[in-house]
Amino acid sequence: MAEVVLTGLGKAYADGTRAVEDLNLDIRDGEFLVLVGPSGCGKTTALRMIAGLEHISEGSIRIGEQVVNDVPSRDRDVAMVFQSYALYPHLNVFDNIAFGLTLRKLPKQKIDERVREVAEALELAEHLDRKPRNLSGGQRQRVAMGRAIVRAPQVFLMDEPLSNLDAKLRVQMRAQIARVQRDLGVTTVYVTHDQTEAMTLGDRVAVMKRGVLQQVGPPQELYDRPVNLFVAGFIGSPGMNLVTARLYHIDGRYWVSLNSDTLLLPDSVLHARPALTDHVGKEVVVGIRPEDMEDASLADAEEGQLLHSVADLVEAMGSDVLVHFPIDAQPVNTEDTRLLAEDAGTADLPAPDKGTVLVGRFSPRTRVY
Ligand code: ATP
Repeated sequence: MAEVVLTGLGKAYADGTRAVEDLNLDIRDGEFLVLVGPSGCGKTTALRMIAGLEHISEGSIRIGEQVVNDVPSRDRDVAMVFQSYALYPHLNVFDNIAFGLTLRKLPKQKIDERVREVAEALELAEHLDRKPRNLSGGQRQRVAMGRAIVRAPQVFLMDEPLSNLDAKLRVQMRAQIARVQRDLGVTTVYVTHDQTEAMTLGDRVAVMKRGVLQQVGPPQELYDRPVNLFVAGFIGSPGMNLVTARLYHIDGRYWVSLNSDTLLLPDSVLHARPALTDHVGKEVVVGIRPEDMEDASLADAEEGQLLHSVADLVEAMGSDVLVHFPIDAQPVNTEDTRLLAEDAGTADLPAPDKGTVLVGRFSPRTRVY
């Protein structure tokens, strides 16, 4: 087991494309780190550089005590799980899982023990004689995991291992990956474009955009305190409401005008943006999580907390209710000129319906960009 330290890591492809820029990450021993970002942001390139499958243009990679820049992939003691699974079609499940051990010429009995142990843990014990083509997508995915686990590497590297599975299976396998990683305690770097996967799996999540790391931290920190508009818009489903509003400074406090209401910003925004003074009188972007919007009839809002709007669409999602409110402010990152509120719809409170009046209770989680 080992930490993985990326220092000033950069990648320029032969055609000049800069895929990764000055990436600095300190992945702790035993940590589950998720690299997340939209397509083309450089996360796969970063992972492939750690794996030794891609040359490094700048910087260095250390795994444990060893700088591995010039160490060939096979000598890095990492195991990679690909989106495509990359199973050997002519080998059965047993031989697919055993492959790395057979290469290393381990005693036959030792191989047998290890493979059966891993197959048991991944619920594959009954399928050891089958060929990959006779397995379901989920089973193939588990064989790919098994092949990585059986080698007991220092580091697991996973590139969108769940993206070929249907939604339900993805949730099941997500939990299984989390359990296996926790039990084995192997340092893991996991690449995905799916923010839900990132939030549920990662001890820490690193958000990338166009090759540049935007923010790294525990999932809750990214959710509560996204450092910029990109992270604010990317993390969270439904996404954070992001709208432009004019900023005022009156009586020593900061206010924004939105929908012809004047709303007091919580002092917490000052901690995040100490230089807010520079923006007084100008447009800023206000970010409010949907669950921080409340039904006016239920909230004991004070002056400066009421954002008036009337719901024009209600979507019942089962556990949550999403309520849409029209606004006259300029929306950011979306074509929708509406705010979204999310209500847990508990049994003793009525679910909001069309016509509900909105309270923009600006919680300490409100952000200004
Ligand atoms: P995806 O989720 O779509 O796989 P990603 O975030 O993993 O995307 P990368 O595959 O790392 O992104 O690609 C980062 C950038 O580098 C993209 O602009 C991509 O087009 C480019 N790129 C990737 N591989 C090569 C290559 N072999 N030659 C030139 N450019 C490449």
